[in-house]
Amino acid sequence: MVSHDLQPVGGVDYPRTLQEFDAWFATEKACADYLRRLRWPDGFRCPACGASKTWTTARGLLRCTACERQTSPTAGTIFEGTRKPLRTWFQAMWFVTNQKSGGNALGLQRVLGLGSYQTAWTWLHKLRRAMVRPGRDRLVGRVEVDETYLGGPEGGVRGRQTERKALIAVAAQEDGERIGRIRMRTIANASADSLIPFVEEAVERGSVIRTDAWLGYDPLERKGYIHEVIFLKGNKKSPSELLPRVHHVVSLLKRWLMGTHHGARGHLFYRLLQQAVQVDPVPYGDLKGGQTDPNHNL
Ligand SMILES: [Zn+2]
Repeated sequence: MVSHDLQPVGGVDYPRTLQEFDAWFATEKACADYLRRLRWPDGFRCPACGASKTWTTARGLLRCTACERQTSPTAGTIFEGTRKPLRTWFQAMWFVTNQKSGGNALGLQRVLGLGSYQTAWTWLHKLRRAMVRPGRDRLVGRVEVDETYLGGPEGGVRGRQTERKALIAVAAQEDGERIGRIRMRTIANASADSLIPFVEEAVERGSVIRTDAWLGYDPLERKGYIHEVIFLKGNKKSPSELLPRVHHVVSLLKRWLMGTHHGARGHLFYRLLQQAVQVDPVPYGDLKGGQTDPNHNL
């Protein structure tokens, strides 16, 4: 794995080790400040008047100095309405990004000392959802799309394949030099019949879709997208340079699933939090596919 994959994104740094994690996020305020930097990387703007100066209330809300509008840094994120400290959530994310395949609820409950298994289970599912972002809103603008195999032989298990490989499609929105929102889904195969419905579900029509020259993407123009084909053949650049965002996301996912986190755990944590502050809150009822209970905040 090339090391440029692991550079901080967008000028925001992240802890590399447990010792750094503990030092960085020792207080609730430190967690809130970090979350704010990830949510508003270009600086906070008041949604009412556009001013940038705020002070923080005792309850942790951002109060606009111009119009006094109060904004919750966690509104609209998976942390909205939580009764637990952000610090506990950060610890949960650190745990989840350090476990093979994202860990399990019992492990999370034990590590955080959570009283209820249900809370641990709900947190785990919120975080998993945030990691893959199956949001309802589609990506827009310029979007990289590619498909890749995940899974396969487990490390250390010799001569035995314990998991079947899954083909997943990944879409990553460009946000300047940064990776914007991402979408991914398991697909049956790499045919147009699988790839095009994924793009239609993930990306607004009229957007620019960048893909490699695979035939499965050919119908994109007919479906109302602007299709930019990146040719790999004869091009000296590697695929990760041509579609850097989507390959970055894939390499992180592969490391997470395969448990090969060496040097990547801080970055996974960062990426998970970045996803978490973008995602809509998912009520417990939604997770179970049942009725939504808006008062059920964990
Ligand atoms: Zn304002």
